[in-house]
Amino acid sequence: MMRLLLGASVLALMAAPVVLDAAGPKAANIDAARLIGARNEPGNWMTHGGSYSEQRFADLTAINSGNVAGLGLAWYTDLDTNRGQEATPLIIDGTMYTTTAWSKVVALDAATGRVKWRFDPQVDKARGHSACCDVVNRGVAAWGGMVFVGALDGRLIALDAATGKVKWSTVTVDQSKPYTITGAPRVVKGMVLIGNGGAELGVRGYVTAYDAMTGKKKWRFYTVPGDPAAGPDGEASDDVLKTKAGDSWSGDYWKAGGGGTVWDAIVYDQELDQLFIGVGNGSPWNHQIRSAGKGDNLFLSSVVALDPETGKYRWHYQGTPGETWDFTQTQPIILSTLMIEGKPRKVLMQAPKNGFFYVIDRETGKLISAKGFVPQTWTKGVDMATGRPIEVPESRYLKDGFLMMPSALGAHNWHPMAFSPRTGLVYLPSQEVPFFYQTDKTYGFKPGAWNIGVNTVINAPPTDAAAFKALKASLKGALLAWDPVAQKEVWRAQYEGPWNGGALATAGNLVFQGNGGGTFQAFDASTGKNLWKFSAQTGVIAGPVSYTVGKTQYVAVMAGYGGAYPLTAAFDERAPAQNGRLLVFRIGGTAKLPPVPKAVYAAANPPSETFTEQQIATGAEIYEGNCALCHSSAARASGLLPDLRRSAVLADKQAWEDIVHGGALKANGMVAFSAWFTKEQLEAVRGYVGEKAKKLAADEKAGR
Ligand code: CA
Repeated sequence: MMRLLLGASVLALMAAPVVLDAAGPKAANIDAARLIGARNEPGNWMTHGGSYSEQRFADLTAINSGNVAGLGLAWYTDLDTNRGQEATPLIIDGTMYTTTAWSKVVALDAATGRVKWRFDPQVDKARGHSACCDVVNRGVAAWGGMVFVGALDGRLIALDAATGKVKWSTVTVDQSKPYTITGAPRVVKGMVLIGNGGAELGVRGYVTAYDAMTGKKKWRFYTVPGDPAAGPDGEASDDVLKTKAGDSWSGDYWKAGGGGTVWDAIVYDQELDQLFIGVGNGSPWNHQIRSAGKGDNLFLSSVVALDPETGKYRWHYQGTPGETWDFTQTQPIILSTLMIEGKPRKVLMQAPKNGFFYVIDRETGKLISAKGFVPQTWTKGVDMATGRPIEVPESRYLKDGFLMMPSALGAHNWHPMAFSPRTGLVYLPSQEVPFFYQTDKTYGFKPGAWNIGVNTVINAPPTDAAAFKALKASLKGALLAWDPVAQKEVWRAQYEGPWNGGALATAGNLVFQGNGGGTFQAFDASTGKNLWKFSAQTGVIAGPVSYTVGKTQYVAVMAGYGGAYPLTAAFDERAPAQNGRLLVFRIGGTAKLPPVPKAVYAAANPPSETFTEQQIATGAEIYEGNCALCHSSAARASGLLPDLRRSAVLADKQAWEDIVHGGALKANGMVAFSAWFTKEQLEAVRGYVGEKAKKLAADEKAGR
């Protein structure tokens, strides 16, 4: 449910004289030469990862390990929601372009924070139901005087960078299906590239290239085969799906779409003129259900190299054949040249959900090395002869359940990692989150609903206080400084909660990173020594950037707690009451955030009716498989969305029915669940949440 829009106020509390825009006659005047030569313009941040190699390395030294202690807030901008903020801003010739939750775009003066224009694509809030992991957006791309945003509802929209007016807009998905876009587009050779998400609900993944000037489709690559009865797609992927991928699937795999969404990494290799896409998990997750337990299911959980002109397949590396754990391989990809055994090798580096840090030869697609960067219960390592993981057989949960580490939330999720060519280290936001995998025996495909084929009830946090405490303590996160040549950890910053933010490395020998606990920090890039910290008053999960306007270097980050973990599994970690912000820092900055408003929580509000054990069990099945994705498992909500245990609606049978079954609040994003469940079933959900509210009321009374 959305909070009221707070009028966005912009404070420009600059002590130093305002530096005027260095902009030329045209805003976002980006072309191929500028993107290819991005390293010659370290003061700009012109594409998602900072340059085509996506190293997130700012070659700037005005802010450095010697003076970072003097870093202060230069200005900030309040955002209009407490939902997650995951965008990496672009900075082009003194103007910043960033996106916020619900796919909104804002252009600001990068030195002062003065808003130049705003754009709201007016996404239907009901689309939020199809977003597995919050209504987030990870940023824009720029080209030829335009910026491009992928909207949550599947539109790709080109905006005039000077005015924010729509130049063109095209629908990139079948909007009758639960597709979403949260990822940042990339522009390569005058084409805008965009993928999509939705593999938890049931879609077929692909990436599409559009002409940047006109929005006309150039090519599309499907990552998994479609229904054989429908014949070829007439797309760039037809040949390879027939010759390579088709035989790796079994059963009625197309019924739930197969998955394989390209929801984050899309990286252009300017040295070898090829494109890398990171491909997501299967739909449903469970390989037994999806593909009769047979086959590698290409190109799920893979990096695929494509010809950028045609979209045709070149090679692939699949980290998790026969994916059955939501092991996406969409995670950020970094390109570099590393000296390996005395020879320079053009490599790509990726640390996907399955917990392996991969170094892959970009020229051949051959795996150079792979090493686990978190504890892994499912594997004994990678067989370097085949490139395949050596699986622990029980991990496939064919008969019994299996406690996996890492799991669906990932050893590393979308949070951008950074690489410093100076230290040779990768700065990797890692997570340790277990999950107990067991087949959902009640599974039946429900179009548009959550369809994973895995038992979610068994993963609800325990009611017993000691067991709950132990579970919470087992969820950890750390920023790892990782040597990709030696494949070993060099230092770490350890956090209590798992959800830690994107990283930025700079030539000032610094690493900047935020965390879910609300601290934005700078570390010595070589040693990990903490050199500076700032209380952001909300979780910081996005990737920071650095840039210059005139001679002044700035560091910027989007602050706003959200995404999969806070919505689903934060387990009573109370999210801050206020909305997110864009924070911008410089040496000597003196701006101050206002005090945090005191959060006020309603008391637990259990219904007066009694429910049968059967009702509560039915309610648990439905709640944990559908409602928990936003309102949190066991209703232990983080407060980003309403805590149902404290809701007035919970005690009111009719109001509950009107909203949950009837869709009375669908304008806020709470869709009608009558599409999938009866009134009686949804009343049973009220019984389950009511039990949790009773427990909360008892805990509150006892002062627990
Ligand atoms: Ca997924």
